[in-house]
Order: sequence, then C-alpha cells, then structure tokens
Amino acid sequence: MANDTQNSVKALLKPRGWWALWAVFSMLLAGHGHAAPSSPVVHLTDSERAYLTVQNPIGLCVDPDWWPFEVIDDRGQHKGMAADLIALVSARTGAQFVLHTTTTWEESVAASQAGKCLALSFLNRTPDREQWLIFTEPLLIDPNVLITREEHPFISDVGRLRGQTIALPKATAMSERIKRDFPNLTVLDTVSENESLGWVSERQADMTLRSLIVAAHTIKHNGWFNLKISGQIPGYENRLSMGVLKSETILRDILNKGVATLTDEDRRQVVDRHVQMKLVTDVKTDYTLATAIGALLVLVVVSNGWWVRRIQLANTQLKAMAETDALTGLLNRNGLGNSFAFDVERALRYGRSLSVIMLDIDHFKAINDDFGHLVGDKVLADLGYLLTKATRNVDTVCRWGGEEFVVICHETPLEQAEQLAERLLQMAREHPFASQRPLTLSAGVAHVQAGDVPDALVARADAALYQAKNSGRNRVCVAAAVKVDTLPA
Ligand code: GH3
Ligand code: MG
Ligand code: MG
Repeated sequence: MANDTQNSVKALLKPRGWWALWAVFSMLLAGHGHAAPSSPVVHLTDSERAYLTVQNPIGLCVDPDWWPFEVIDDRGQHKGMAADLIALVSARTGAQFVLHTTTTWEESVAASQAGKCLALSFLNRTPDREQWLIFTEPLLIDPNVLITREEHPFISDVGRLRGQTIALPKATAMSERIKRDFPNLTVLDTVSENESLGWVSERQADMTLRSLIVAAHTIKHNGWFNLKISGQIPGYENRLSMGVLKSETILRDILNKGVATLTDEDRRQVVDRHVQMKLVTDVKTDYTLATAIGALLVLVVVSNGWWVRRIQLANTQLKAMAETDALTGLLNRNGLGNSFAFDVERALRYGRSLSVIMLDIDHFKAINDDFGHLVGDKVLADLGYLLTKATRNVDTVCRWGGEEFVVICHETPLEQAEQLAERLLQMAREHPFASQRPLTLSAGVAHVQAGDVPDALVARADAALYQAKNSGRNRVCVAAAVKVDTLPA
C-alpha cells in the first residue's frame, strides 16, 4: 500500500506549473475504483422488508452545493462522498432513494420539515434538528481541525492558548461551542468559513476551525498555501449521519444495518475518490514548492480514524518531497531549515566554527540559451553531485534555488572554508559538463559570529557572493565580520 501510494504520488510529480496540492492519499484517483456495490447484504426483518416494499423509492434531500461531501451536478445527479456512501448502504439494504432536487441546503431542510423527503443525506445531529429528525450512526466521521498560518506552533491543547483569536462564522453551532468551551480564545465573527480561512491567511486572525476534508479542498482551490493544520480538538468532529423523519424509525433501523456494514476500507475508497492530493511542480521554483507543501504538512494528531493514518502516511511522503530538490537530490532550502538553525545555535553556544559557502554558477542563463534547458538541468544535477563528492559527509550541501548552492561546513574556520570554496571552483572549471565548456562559479564565504541567526549568516555569504560577481566572477570572496548591532533583524 505504501509503495502504491508513493508511486501514484510520484506519477503526479510532473514538472508543469508550480506545486499546488492537495490531498489524495493513494492510487485511487477520481473516477476509478468504485467500491464493490454489494457484499454483505444485511438481514432485514419481515416488517422492514414490508416497509421498503411500500416506501421504495424513498425521497432524499441533500445539500446541492457542499463539495467534496456532496453536490447535485449539472445533470441533476447526487455526487460526492455522501452519494457514494449512501449508494453502498442502499445496495446492501435494498432501501432505494430518489433525489428530491433543491438548489440550496436551506431549501432541502425546509422540504424535509414539510415531509417532502423522508431522508436527509449527510448531517451532524444537533438539538435543533432533533426536533423533527432521528439519525443513523455516522456514515463518516470527519474531524474539525485548527488551521493556522505556517509559522504557528503545533497546538496540543487549545485550552492553554493565551491572547489568540479564532475566526468563525457568526452564530454557528461551532462558534457557540468554542465560546463556551474555550473562553481563553477571542472569537472573531465572520460571514462564512471561507472568510474565516481568508482572515487567517491575511493575519487578521490566528486560527480557525474547519472540517479537515473541506479545508483540504478549499485551501487548494483558493491557493492559501501559507496555511497549515496545527491541531485538533478532541470531540469536535463532524459525525455525518443520515437523518430521517422522526416517524420513520423503521427506516432509521434499516439504514443503520447498512451503515454497520461500512468498513474502514469502504470509507477510505470513498474519500480517496473525492479528495485528491495532486502535486504539480516546477523544477525551477522548488523552494516555492517547499514552502507551499510545508505550509500544508498536516500535523494531525489524536483520533485513530482510518483516514488520519492515511494522512500521516501521505504527509511523511510529502515532507520528504518537500525537503528534497527533485533535480539534484540535494536538500532544498526548506530541508535545511531547522537543522541549520540548530547548527548555528550550537556553534555559538559551544564556541565552535561554522562556515557557509554560497555558490552561484556564472552566466548560467547562457548555458540554457545556447544548449537548452535539458542540458542546463544536467549541468545542475552534475554540479550537485560534484559538490556532494567534494565535501565531507558531515557537511551539508543544499540547492538554495535556481543555480545557487549552499554548503554548510561544520567545525570549519573561515580560512578552511575559503580553501574549500576555491577547490570547488577549480573542480567545476575542470569537470567535463554536458555543456562542454568550462563552468565557472562565484562564491561567497562567511563564518558564524556572536549574535548570529541563520538568515544573517547566509546574508553575509550572499553579500560576499555579490562582491565576487561584481569583481569579475569566477572567484571566491570572504565576508568580513559585521558588528552585531548591524546584523539584520
Ligand atoms: P550570473 O553570472 O550573474 O549569476 O548570471 P546567470 O545567468 O547565472 O544568472 P541569472 O540569475 O541571470 O540566470 C539564472 C538562470 O538560471 C536563469 C534560469 O532560467 C536558470 N535556472 C534556474 N533554475 C534552473 C533549473 O532548474 N534548470 C535550468 N535549466 N535552468 C535554471
Ligand atoms: Mg548565476
Ligand atoms: Mg543566481
């Protein structure tokens, strides 16, 4: 299963456009592999069979606009996860449904209240709805997850947050519940779930709470790649059941027999079919991709739900892909992230050496122009390999972006790093690259200094690289130490 998943994710790794995402967790792409229609067929009592003989087909009201859960499509067909799950229940119980077409959810609710349809498709049980409905066991349990911007730390206990805001649609059951359960949060009223997500993305709120499945879908569609899922509130899940009119207890019992036959695998297939993780990349902007994916690395905890495990698996794969440059196989900028910060901190704390070499190919654009991008790609891949071979195992080589590479040299004083940089330049000059012309590099070298942070250290190496470019290219320049109080913030 893991391999199949990996293969399908890989198959989607085509260098076109930039990395967008979302979420299928498997080889089952939309439209494929509809679940087996029947097995097992439930045992119905005589009165249940008699009920179906009279009532079939049973009027079903649905939400016509709630993708990926459900929708009424252009041809008037009920589609989405609810439709698929209800089809399984229908096939296994013999209860047949006929769609009562509406244009809004409110219309469907009104039709149900007026007795125009005996069943409602996919909804949470609430005291309000219990006034006229009784509910089956859930067809699907979908957790509500906390969504924050990428930089927000993981939330293990919402009750412990202080001074944070949460955007939620006004006067919804969720908003009332959060106000009651978490007075430590300030609830900001919005008009819709999408506005709530937008507010988080635009820094007007710290977080929002939303169905995992809908969030995955909406984040992709709106390109909110600075958002991630930071946690979950136990007990705050959507238990999506069928509701039937209070008078129809026999129907509820029949449907429950069908729901009881739904297996984890049935549900997994249905979710896979409708929520896709589509990864589309552009080799040139891998760091953008990394940010995008990093933003969506889903840190789902708690629940033992089958889909949580699926998401965790998908995220492990996404994380590996997000941290690796596809062309060279080196770490990308995102992959360097945390370990580099740790390296800088450790070097400063223990007074160790740490140098950074930033390398940039000279006039690389001309290689692309003269020989084409494929040759350009080959040169980049070969250079990545050479850099790895020529540095120590403990050093870290990273494709910083485009035709720029960074080498983190642990326990290496500035002079030694400068020598290493000279050696790397010499090696590149002598290597028979696919472009069949000597490749020259420029390099900037910097050493960690008191008060440093990774960005400042890299900025000094970058400034030295800039100096190398400006003084004729094909050379190494060393960054002078900067006074601590002039370091970039
Ligand atoms: P300079 O000496 O000033 O660094 O000149 P340059 O031409 O190397 O730099 P410039 O920034 O003008 O151009 C960089 C080029 O690198 C342009 C871009 O198309 C190319 N490039 C970036 N990433 C890739 C890649 O993944 N594959 C290929 N083939 N080319 C890439
Ligand atoms: Mg260049
Ligand atoms: Mg460059």
